[in-house]
Amino acid sequence: MRREEIIGFIKKHPEVDALVVGAGINGAGAFMDLAANGVKTLLIDRGDFCSGTSATSSHMAHGGIRYLENGEFRLVREAVTERNRMIQNSPHMVKPLPTVIPIFKFWSGLLNAPFKFLNLLDKPAERGALVIKIGLIFYDSFTGKNRTVPAHKFFNRVESLKRYPLLNKEVKYTAEYYDGLMLSPERLNTEIILDAEKDHTNAMALNYVSLDGVDGGQVVLVDEETGEKIKIQTKIIINAAGPWIDSVNQRLGVKSKYILGTKGSHIIVKNPVLKEAIGNREFFFENKDGRIVLLLPFFDKVIIGTSDLPISNPDEAKCSPEEETYFIDLVKRVFPEIPITPDQIVFRFSGVRPLEYQETKTTGQITRDHSIKIDKVNEIEIYSMVGGKWTSYRAFGEQIADKVMQRLEITRKANTSDVRIGGGKNYPASEEKKSLFVKRLAEETGSDLQMVDLLFERYGTVVNEFLSKQQPLGYLKSNKILTVNELRYIAEKEKLVHLDDLLLRRSSIGWLGQVDADSLVEIVDIVGEVLGWNKNKREQEIQRVKEIFRKNHTVEI
Ligand SMILES: Cc1cc2nc3c(=O)[nH]c(=O)nc-3n(C[C@H](O)[C@H](O)[C@H](O)COP(=O)(O)OP(=O)(O)OC[C@H]3O[C@@H](n4cnc5c(N)ncnc54)[C@H](O)[C@@H]3O)c2cc1C
Repeated sequence: MRREEIIGFIKKHPEVDALVVGAGINGAGAFMDLAANGVKTLLIDRGDFCSGTSATSSHMAHGGIRYLENGEFRLVREAVTERNRMIQNSPHMVKPLPTVIPIFKFWSGLLNAPFKFLNLLDKPAERGALVIKIGLIFYDSFTGKNRTVPAHKFFNRVESLKRYPLLNKEVKYTAEYYDGLMLSPERLNTEIILDAEKDHTNAMALNYVSLDGVDGGQVVLVDEETGEKIKIQTKIIINAAGPWIDSVNQRLGVKSKYILGTKGSHIIVKNPVLKEAIGNREFFFENKDGRIVLLLPFFDKVIIGTSDLPISNPDEAKCSPEEETYFIDLVKRVFPEIPITPDQIVFRFSGVRPLEYQETKTTGQITRDHSIKIDKVNEIEIYSMVGGKWTSYRAFGEQIADKVMQRLEITRKANTSDVRIGGGKNYPASEEKKSLFVKRLAEETGSDLQMVDLLFERYGTVVNEFLSKQQPLGYLKSNKILTVNELRYIAEKEKLVHLDDLLLRRSSIGWLGQVDADSLVEIVDIVGEVLGWNKNKREQEIQRVKEIFRKNHTVEI
């Protein structure tokens, strides 16, 4: 349903069973499960879907090998299982990711885990080969029979330098294991929501609608586009507001201190030598200060991150000049001969981990596990979804839905473990079948094979929706790797409210440095034609995009 239709509908029928506040990945996971189980659910976000922390991740679908050191076996086991499910259910967006750990010591780090339990740890010792080997044996064992990726391997110095000639010559070993790479997590988050709404009439999702407060037994929402207040009744509120959980609770009249936010930033660089040096592999390693950092392949670019700094106001998260310098410098640890310069940065992003409030000596030691906190206002129960990883969204969604259904006395009738998402539906089962799919589509539509391949990489089987004999490929004049087809489709079908929704969350166009002043004008005209934007509105949207890029990502368009 279109946004206006849903608002009209809830004004006439203001009763729902559950209101989900926050459409990041945890809200989306809860929405998906509740929708599948027939619970009458409304999902809202004060901004676009996936515009908070979930849009700032390191793009890894992972079990989190380093959390084993903190003894978080439950979390790692669950996340490895969910990583495997993501690779299976969202094959268009989550790809097996070979991950390399360059190792510079042998024995070091063995006491990190015991010291953590005794709370004697200020800073972990450098992790040596032995401790990494033990960790990887555990990590692989969690995959069990449901193997979607190969087991780990170790390479000695000579083999490592042969594989990666530009690697720091001081390296003693490299370990290689597999995780998942999320190509466009923001799009995946939205696909989960759009699918749930499309497949289940009991589920409705609204972006740009915020939770304002309670008024007696009613919950007050605000349409951020018009300022209009909308009142609804619900039995349960799922507070999935990530780092804003405590402020949402406060609006509901509940005092809570569930969240301790830590800021993490990344930069995206265009450096073909670095990209070639890492190939399609992630380099995941310990920097000189003991922090675990990463270099991640991202289309033709490289993501470098991340930091872990305390922050009190999540709205102020932004990649600082100091973090930028830190990221540039950390590359020297593994590839000392590849210079990175600030002019190679095409994008910066920063977000706040909604970690559970805990007293620890270092931010790295705070649990990465998730939990559900329960409060009550009037007769409404509030379930706060605290913590969690992107990767474990489905499991966390299932756990919260169980709580909701228990409260509503509904029996579970559906399970989301094997539900295919968005462009992962009817996805070709092998590389060979994928090539045939792309070739057939290119031939049938008389399109350039390489371009169809690129579109398939971006959208999976959704490409069938906007490329056909009746809809041949049309390129942008200002940017030959973008098509009119994809832009029109997104504008028509994917609840676009603002131009930045398209550039930053329905696609990765903005992340890859693919927009300049000319393409922005062409894109806004295509989208504006579909959405009925007049000249003024188009200009406003261009200014809004420029401002967001400048303010949040330090990028001038
Ligand atoms: C730097 C960094 C790297 C990470 N890397 C990874 C990784 O590689 N892999 C992984 O698995 N996990 C990773 N994580 C963790 C993961 O991204 C988060 O745990 C997850 O995204 C949290 O999702 P969420 O839905 O709880 O919060 P959010 O995504 O922040 O969603 C909360 C939503 O609530 C909305 N909201 C706030 N107030 C209101 C209101 N009043 N009314 C309506 N809506 C409101 C916000 O707009 C927001 O969209 C990373 C986190 C960070 C910060």
